[in-house]
Amino acid sequence: METSVIDKLRSHASLDFHLRLAGIVDESVVDGPGVRLVVFAQGCPHHCPGCHNPHTWATDGGVSVAAEEIIERLRANLVLSGVTLSGGEPFAQASEFGRLAMAVKKMGFTVTTYTGYKWEHLVQSSYSGVHLLLDNTDILVDGPYVDNLREPGLKWRGSSNQRIIDVHRSLEAGSVVLL
Ligand code: SF4
Repeated sequence: METSVIDKLRSHASLDFHLRLAGIVDESVVDGPGVRLVVFAQGCPHHCPGCHNPHTWATDGGVSVAAEEIIERLRANLVLSGVTLSGGEPFAQASEFGRLAMAVKKMGFTVTTYTGYKWEHLVQSSYSGVHLLLDNTDILVDGPYVDNLREPGLKWRGSSNQRIIDVHRSLEAGSVVLL
């Protein structure tokens, strides 16, 4: 991305906020299409039995990270094709993750978001930021992890109940359209 785009984002104060994170992985090929920067939210209300990341559950754990730092890491790596928001539960910080997703989209990258909530719950939610995050997500992997539906080798997800949803087509259709 050209420096001018970063400056433009800054001038609109789009990046002047922090997110509570469990961590960041700079390059992943298993969390959505292409090579992706993965941002792991700290805090998860779902407590799925068999969860592989229980350290992400506590809302007071993790670290506070400036949105600008995430954007700089995205800008600095030319192999990346997009950002994946995972967790933890990104929709528990929907306003902050929605603003981050919007900034990522403005830079021309794609956004994949993982959530333990189901699509039908999210589209009816009035929780602040939920629709901002949905509107700026290209692919949503929805639903809780269900340990007895775990299938090693499943594309982009841990258990077979989770759906890979084309968000924009689903919003247009008013019902789930799978990718
Ligand atoms: S939604 Fe994800 S992070 Fe949260 S408990 Fe379930 S598997 Fe773990």
